[in-house]
Amino acid sequence: MALVGPLGCWLQVNQALCQITGYSEQELEEKYFQHLVHPNDLGAALVQVHQLLEGTIPPFQMEQQYLHQKGHTIWVIWSVSLTRDLATKENRLIFQLQDISERKRAEAQLLHDAFHDGLTELPNRALFLDHVKLAMERGKRYPNRQFAVLFLDFDRFKIINDSLVPAMGDQLLIAIASRLQTCLRPGDTIARLGGDEFTMLLEEMRHYSESLEVAARIQQSLEEPFTLNGNEIFISVSIGIADSSMGYEQPEDMLRDADTAMYRAKARGAKCHEVFDKTMHSQVASRLQMESDMRRAIGREEFFLCYQPIVLLETGRLAGFEALVRWKHPELGLVSPAHFIPLAEETGLILQIGHWVLQEACRQMREWQEIYPASFPLQMSVNLSSKQFTQPNLIEQIRAILNDTKLEARYLKLELTESAVMDNVEAAMKQLAEIRALGIELSIDDFGTGYSSLSYLHRFPLNTLKIDRSFVMSMNEKENIEIVRTIIALAGSLGMGVIAEGVETFDQLTQLRNLHCGCGQGYYFSKPVEKDAAELFVKDCNLLKALFTPLLIDESQVLITRGTSTALKVAAYGKALDERWPAGRWKRCPVSALRQV
Ligand code: C2E
Ligand code: CA
Ligand code: CA
Repeated sequence: MALVGPLGCWLQVNQALCQITGYSEQELEEKYFQHLVHPNDLGAALVQVHQLLEGTIPPFQMEQQYLHQKGHTIWVIWSVSLTRDLATKENRLIFQLQDISERKRAEAQLLHDAFHDGLTELPNRALFLDHVKLAMERGKRYPNRQFAVLFLDFDRFKIINDSLVPAMGDQLLIAIASRLQTCLRPGDTIARLGGDEFTMLLEEMRHYSESLEVAARIQQSLEEPFTLNGNEIFISVSIGIADSSMGYEQPEDMLRDADTAMYRAKARGAKCHEVFDKTMHSQVASRLQMESDMRRAIGREEFFLCYQPIVLLETGRLAGFEALVRWKHPELGLVSPAHFIPLAEETGLILQIGHWVLQEACRQMREWQEIYPASFPLQMSVNLSSKQFTQPNLIEQIRAILNDTKLEARYLKLELTESAVMDNVEAAMKQLAEIRALGIELSIDDFGTGYSSLSYLHRFPLNTLKIDRSFVMSMNEKENIEIVRTIIALAGSLGMGVIAEGVETFDQLTQLRNLHCGCGQGYYFSKPVEKDAAELFVKDCNLLKALFTPLLIDESQVLITRGTSTALKVAAYGKALDERWPAGRWKRCPVSALRQV
């Protein structure tokens, strides 16, 4: 407490006031209170005191900052009232100061914590969104001020983080935060949303390309490894960009689109960046729609199987089928598996779909075996996605399906891609061995398009390599025929069989037969067909043999179609023909005209 003169000199102070301000009684009494009030608050204080002395306002109270003798600021509640010195009749002010510095500090900390990330001290999502909102408002007033939001997500961060002790993971994030800060221009904001997700707000850009420059700068700054406890850690980032040209109204929308673009960048591989645009927006919407439709499709029995024959090339006899899933969407009609299988893999729905496919393919095969026992052995090939392959209970599932459908294991064959087995060799080895132990055969699908380590290939218990159709399609080029020849030889020396995929013409068939390729599959024999059509092939296993020679209509005429050999086509038409044979074109040609060929 203090008694203060009308001009502000301290007349009398108590010990508590000395403690709060850090001055002695004597030091204070040589000063005016104006010396101690923080300059920011002085104006308001003097106005109030003046009005009080004039009698225009009653005693008052306000929060105010004072300067401590040591120079720092202290917060007080300052209460002032008026009294009159009985002897001199002069006005006196009674001050009462209460130190509230501690409370103010706690409040400031709370405010800071509510808007900052505890680990890196960067703004958090709430504060970031607030900054974006302000940028949007400024953008409305000054339309040529462009701004952009960058969404950063580090590649394989979980794997890196899991390999570090927790404290080092934190250190890495702190180091990342400070590295990123060096990439910003003055006035830009960087925030951490959580985990390894960071965002940036770039303001006052002269052109949108500046956001691409910043993205490139970030990628470049991360080329340099981080060093933690003597370990070098290399890390890269995927960046999504949303810019103000899209006319956003809500900060959340802009952040969401930058996030979407980031996912797109990630899908292109590590270290990429992508800018969000309108087409991405509709793609996202239709993907989401497709995903929820797919969830329902299983229960609504919208999936069915088609079967594509696989043919023994030496004899023309049917060897079996590949089961291929089809989706009859209630509005979109038939959706290609090339379209929905990748999405099903991403969302994990492939596990349910794949289980159904396996069950249905086995059931169908068993049914055919019962109706046409003489046609057997035939094999049913079923595609197994890598997600399915790594399921811990896969073996039990397969065993249950075989039990349930009563199909003998040797009639089932599973197709896996190279990456499914090569990505985690040890685990794959064990899983493959268990599948083989059940008596099921294994094929490598699309062989030649992925990455196979030859040193592992011979240690895996595989039965068949399926030569990818890209090699078969282009067998007219010398180089590719050599690739096909090499794969056939490789399979032979590893004791495996071969299936050539995508056989479309009589010429390809002839070439493959000359190379002693074991089996063929492709449109030349048949497209994937529904159950009833497939059953005709089962009924007569030699139906496809007719395709091994040019089609004779009768003794004197040959049918020239898409699948006829090029030499016969040229002879029949008397000129070189386009590579592309239009659907539906055919011609009867007398055998006499073709005799020399
Ligand atoms: P894939 O396993 O390589 O299957 C062969 C694909 O090639 C099939 O396409 C088939 O219709 C097509 N094809 C067959 N012969 C020819 C030909 O002569 N020329 C051309 N151009 N194409 C031919 P589809 O049925 O559209 O399937 C595409 C992919 O979808 C499959 O490739 C497979 O990876 C996946 N898929 C299909 N069904 C399933 C399934 O039940 N489970 C899993 N996991 N994946 C499936
Ligand atoms: Ca396949
Ligand atoms: Ca294939």
